[in-house]
Amino acid sequence: MNITQHPDSSTLMSYAAGSLTEALSAVVCGHIAMCPACAREVRTLEAVGGALMERLDPVPVQQQSPLVILRAAEADNFDRAMPDTVADTDVPVPLQRLVGARLDDIRWRRLGMGVWHVPLRLSRAGEGDLRLLRVAPGQAMPDHGHGGAELTLILRGSYRDVFGDYHRGDVADLDSEAEHRPIADPETGCICLIASEQRARFKSLFGRIVQPLSGL
Ligand SMILES: [Zn+2]
Repeated sequence: MNITQHPDSSTLMSYAAGSLTEALSAVVCGHIAMCPACAREVRTLEAVGGALMERLDPVPVQQQSPLVILRAAEADNFDRAMPDTVADTDVPVPLQRLVGARLDDIRWRRLGMGVWHVPLRLSRAGEGDLRLLRVAPGQAMPDHGHGGAELTLILRGSYRDVFGDYHRGDVADLDSEAEHRPIADPETGCICLIASEQRARFKSLFGRIVQPLSGL
């Protein structure tokens, strides 16, 4: 796997500090399970943060948040072989609790016009929006802007937009100003995990029709 597109440093820093929402954290977590470079960076940032925390008074942990569980799964993951070398699964280990082990087993909901999705359940409201999206070969997604940050992790196939080409393991890290119109690979299509702070705002007619129906 040749990963060329990574989360911004500021995103990795927020992740290491535990200040991203659960939805955004899940995407970063999935990426670093596949990207040794970002995994190293996050570990360094965590070590720095940990050293700073040792100077502060401890705060009791109220409950085990889903982020804590995700991070535990991620840590567990580092102690084993890289999950990508495990045959018969194309979902990074830390994401398997949310997504399942195999993309082929997912029960998609059709949105229409070559687009399917599966909203993923987060532990509580206010942690953003997380969903899998499947786009048919050569299909364009509707134009949309974002209500806040959006992170996309490619799990299968690829897509292209004005910012570049995105393949398995790559992350598109977009801020609220970004607008783009991804087009899935003409042969493979694309399956990706998308997290946003809020729901995407579609601009096209298709988007305006589909959005109220799908909750996307
Ligand atoms: Zn990376």
